[in-house]
Amino acid sequence: MAGFFYLINYLCAVEIAKNKKDIRAFTKEQLREFFTSQGDQAFRGNQVYEWLWQKSAHSFEEMTNISKETRQLLEDNFVINHIKVDQMQRSSDGTIKNAVRLHDNLVVESVLIPTKTRTTACVSSQVGCSLDCRFCATSRLKRMRNLNPDEIYDQVVAIDNESRLYFDRPLTNIVFMGMGEPLMNYKNVLKAIDKITSPEGLGMSPKRITVSTSGVPKMIRKMADEEVRFNLAVSLHSAIDEIRTSIMPFNATFTLTDLRAALEYWYEKTKSRITYEYVVWEGINDKQKDVDALVNFCKFAPSKVNLIEYNPIDDGEFRQASNSAIDLYVNILERNGIIVTVRRSRGKDIDAACGQLANKS
Ligand code: SAH
Repeated sequence: MAGFFYLINYLCAVEIAKNKKDIRAFTKEQLREFFTSQGDQAFRGNQVYEWLWQKSAHSFEEMTNISKETRQLLEDNFVINHIKVDQMQRSSDGTIKNAVRLHDNLVVESVLIPTKTRTTACVSSQVGCSLDCRFCATSRLKRMRNLNPDEIYDQVVAIDNESRLYFDRPLTNIVFMGMGEPLMNYKNVLKAIDKITSPEGLGMSPKRITVSTSGVPKMIRKMADEEVRFNLAVSLHSAIDEIRTSIMPFNATFTLTDLRAALEYWYEKTKSRITYEYVVWEGINDKQKDVDALVNFCKFAPSKVNLIEYNPIDDGEFRQASNSAIDLYVNILERNGIIVTVRRSRGKDIDAACGQLANKS
């Protein structure tokens, strides 16, 4: 009999939990309306909104300037689906990797990258990835789902807190270079950025945010039309269709011609410089013709090429090119007025470097 009552109680609890709404999906206006519909003041909605976003409250209990009865009302109607940092790993170079558990128990990873003057957060936009870049560990994970705006925002807040705690300064930059393809989760990524840049959220400048994409032409055009103010980085890796398709098979659909046209449109509209992410691999894209194609591809607008160090993910199918091949790229790009940086990887010892995020632990 006791078991029966237990079961009924359990089923009721599940039923109630199911009916509760995710409060962070509500706009400030909707929260104000909720309170007036309950006979309370609309202003209460502002207070709750501030707790949720500026103060990043994990529970209604923390909302100490709100009466006990109102907190109970919130408890009865809503849930806060906050992320939880399950595991934090620290690299010998100071990089921190967070394994982030979502409300449905899926896990994504985000990374804090410190330099002398900056702290950069590298955040995920999807659980897994639907693209199939052959050199990237995340592509081996099936795409499970898109992250919600608040799940993206929470990753940033967690890293901001860690930066204050371990480096005594706030987060300074954000790159969407974690798991997933941000432009395949465009709406939620933009909502998260709105919150990150809003004075009611973290108040960060969009100029400190970079969205990195493998190159989805339609979405690049959409971004240009919406006059977004954050930076754009394109993971190019080759400016020759045949080679790019062999290492990034979706290039067969989103060809370099379409990508280039979308980028020209982006530049026309935004007048902002384009950054290209580029790894040079031995025997794949380390020849003069590869560099010439790259120069030709990006000369239509002010560009910057980041030559990223390759982070091996498996059996050695891909190998970092020699220093002389990197020098060849640097010399020719510079001669053509293209800014070039050679970027060393951070956090390799904890699998936190570009392309290594794959929930191994
Ligand atoms: N989907 C987005 C963001 C995630 S990948 C994009 O493609 O831009 C972030 C960056 O890491 C991209 O530039 C990607 O090409 C690069 N990358 C992936 N695997 C890598 C590896 N094994 N070594 C070095 N860089 C890698």
